[in-house]
Amino acid sequence: MNKYSFEDLKGKVCVMTGGAGVIGATLARGLASAGVKTAIVDINEEAATKLAAEIEKEYGVKTIGVVANVLEKESLEAAKAKVNKELGKIEILINGAGGNSPKATTGVEQMVEEDKKNLDATFYGLSMDGFQRVYDLNFKGTLLPTMVFTGDMLEAGKGAIMNISSMNSYRPLTKIPAYSAAKASINNLTEWLAVHFAKIGIRVNAIAPGFFLTNQNRFLLMKEDGTPTPRTEKILNNTPMGKFGEPEDLIGATLYLLSDISSFVTGIVIPIDGGFSAYSGV
Ligand code: NAD
Repeated sequence: MNKYSFEDLKGKVCVMTGGAGVIGATLARGLASAGVKTAIVDINEEAATKLAAEIEKEYGVKTIGVVANVLEKESLEAAKAKVNKELGKIEILINGAGGNSPKATTGVEQMVEEDKKNLDATFYGLSMDGFQRVYDLNFKGTLLPTMVFTGDMLEAGKGAIMNISSMNSYRPLTKIPAYSAAKASINNLTEWLAVHFAKIGIRVNAIAPGFFLTNQNRFLLMKEDGTPTPRTEKILNNTPMGKFGEPEDLIGATLYLLSDISSFVTGIVIPIDGGFSAYSGV
C-alpha cells in the first residue's frame, strides 16, 4: 500500500447521517470510489435505500441504506446494530444531517426605520419553534450520533469523525440566525471533541462548505422563474472564484480528513468556499 494515498480507506466502514441528501449522496459516491463501505443513515428510508443500491451497483462496494432519526437515540442505536450486522465495526462517522428552515429565516437582511411598523419580516417575527428545530437538527443531530456511532472506535482505539459545518459558522449570514448559530456551535463542538478524544485515537474534524445550490437554500438563492435573486449576485461577487461550488468539490477534503494521511490533524474546520472566507470584499 502506498503510504501517501487514500488507500487505507479501502474496506473501512463508514456511517454517514443525512446521507441521502444532495451533499451526502455526492460524498457517498466519493467514499465508494475510495472503497469505503458506507451506511447511508437518513430519516428518509426510501431515498437512503435507493441511493445505496445505485452506489453499490455503480462502484461494486457494499453500501446500505438505514433509517434513523438523528434526534432519537433509540433509533440511532437500532441503526448501529444494523450497520454492525451488515457491514461490521464502524471506523468512520460523517455527521451530515443538518439544514435550515424558512421558519427560522428573516424576510429582511437589515432592519430599517419602516420595518418598525411591521415586525413580521424581522428578527421579532422569527418563530421559536423554527429556531429550536434548526438548532436541534444541526447541533443535537451531531451530538447524539457521535455518542452512538463511536462505540466501536472506542474499542478499537482508532477512528475518524467529520462534521459538516458551513461558511456561516465563521461570520453569520444575514437572514439565517438559527442556522448560523447552530453551525458555529458545530465548529466549537468539533474542537471540543477533538481534544476530548485525542488520547484515545479518535480524530474529529469538519468541513465548512461555502455556497452550493441545493434544495435547502434554493428558496433564498433563486426566484420561482429560475433567475438569480439579489442575494445570489452578492454571493458570487464575494466569492473570488466567481461561482457556486459543486458538491463534488467536497470529496477531496473529505477523503483527506478521513484517511490516515491526515493522522496528526484533529480539531480543524476546512473551508471549501472558492475563497469566500478569505475575501474582505475589497
Ligand atoms: P439536504 O437537505 O439535501 O440533505 C439533508 C439530509 O438529511 C436529507 O436526506 C434528509 O432526509 C436528512 N435528514 C433531515 N432530518 C433528519 C433527521 N432528523 N434524521 C436523519 N436524517 C435527516 O441537505 P444538504 O445540502 O445535502 O446538506 C447536508 C449538510 O451540509 C447539512 O449539514 C447542511 O447544513 C450542510 N451544508 C449545506 C450547504 C449547501 O449549500 N447545501 C452549505 C453548507 C453546509
